[in-house]
Amino acid sequence: MRYVSTRGHTPPMSIDDALLCGLARDGGLFVPELLPSRVSTPVDFTPVNLTPVNQGRALNLAQVANDCLAPFFVGSRVREQLPEWCQRALCIPIELRPLSDALTLLELYLGPTAAFKDFAARFLAEAMSALRAPGAATQTVLVATSGDTGAAVAAAFHHRPGFRVVVLYPDGRVSPRQAHHLGSFGGNVQAIAVEGSFDHCQALVKRAFSDPLLRAKHPLASANSISLGRLLPQMSYYAWLALEAERKQQDAPNLVIPTGNLGNALAAILAQRMGFPLGRIVLASNANRTLAHFFAGHSYAPEATVATLANAMDVGAPSNAERLRWWFGDAQLRESFAAYAIDDAQIRAEIQQTWQEFGFAACPHTACGLRVARQLHTQDGSRWVIAATAHPAKFSEVVEPLIGAKLPIPASLRAMLASQSHALRMPLEYSALCAQLDSAA
Ligand SMILES: *Cc1c(COP(=O)(O)O)cnc(C)c1O
Repeated sequence: MRYVSTRGHTPPMSIDDALLCGLARDGGLFVPELLPSRVSTPVDFTPVNLTPVNQGRALNLAQVANDCLAPFFVGSRVREQLPEWCQRALCIPIELRPLSDALTLLELYLGPTAAFKDFAARFLAEAMSALRAPGAATQTVLVATSGDTGAAVAAAFHHRPGFRVVVLYPDGRVSPRQAHHLGSFGGNVQAIAVEGSFDHCQALVKRAFSDPLLRAKHPLASANSISLGRLLPQMSYYAWLALEAERKQQDAPNLVIPTGNLGNALAAILAQRMGFPLGRIVLASNANRTLAHFFAGHSYAPEATVATLANAMDVGAPSNAERLRWWFGDAQLRESFAAYAIDDAQIRAEIQQTWQEFGFAACPHTACGLRVARQLHTQDGSRWVIAATAHPAKFSEVVEPLIGAKLPIPASLRAMLASQSHALRMPLEYSALCAQLDSAA
């Protein structure tokens, strides 16, 4: 399997090189030349071979992931390690939780940092470790975060030999629990609170990656949402969902996916395209309306980011839009999928309504998905599975006042909250970041 750039100006590469580069040299995103397929197609294709199903038992996610990802790793020099990565990285439980006849949650937040980003970050860490040359210099995984990514990446690389993690986050603009979390790792993880916004943090990271002098001194590794190593493993839980429905002889599930940078939703779309039976796929955004405008028929136009209660989806220029449009083209996208925006007032209303009707506390991101699914059900009676992307206790300052109850804290977060937390403070200056990277080396 070879990988090309969405901008078409780089020669095809192996998966190993694409994983190590992060971004193609022409500024584009890596995409596989062909999508493997579960069903034979008239065009050239790489088959996905599935392990036979034992009818009586739920499928194993790691097994499904291995089957689904194997064709993508054809040509990798570490290909034979894929089953072990899947076993180690994707041993996170997933649960289907029916709320009503029409609404079922796919709970993706039962991992160590209580957000779905654990699946992808842990897989990426396994792949990067395997690809590391023996005796190579320590790699710095440099990430900017609006909250959840930083914690998932830090947890995945914590104590991993050959890596250190430097996380930049906007001082005062992540939730108090998220800030505590980022500073609680210690060891090879350094949290830095930057005097600026998330976009500023992101700009510092981008500048570091395009600075050859800095990179000569500190080999950098990327873990942001455009990395193939994050996109690919996210397909596995959607493939699992589709195969579970098939095993139970149910209709192909319709999906609503809370969306920011479009990594999670793109993974679902690709799983469907590979022949895993999924029904309608609908994207739920917060008040950042770039995708909702596009799918309503306007030309694609990134907008300035607005801050919302669902802060992990505060994205005005979804980075995976370039991949999605490369694959499908605008007309076909609008025909096949839909996106709707949910504002803060609707998020609040949905958190309250879900609590009153079902006794379930939803995080603000999941609430966007629930709201969209509810509206669609009202319109046409359709039934939906909603990707539940984070545990509500991560956003207790939003959720608890709305439901008038205290939320139990999952065990993984409890240990983190009980430990010490330490972050460096940094002015918004590139020289300050360089100095930090030098001093912490
Ligand atoms: C990152 C995140 C999202 C958005 O996912 P994308 O892949 O960026 O679209 C949604 N909900 C939560 C809780 C997140 O952390």
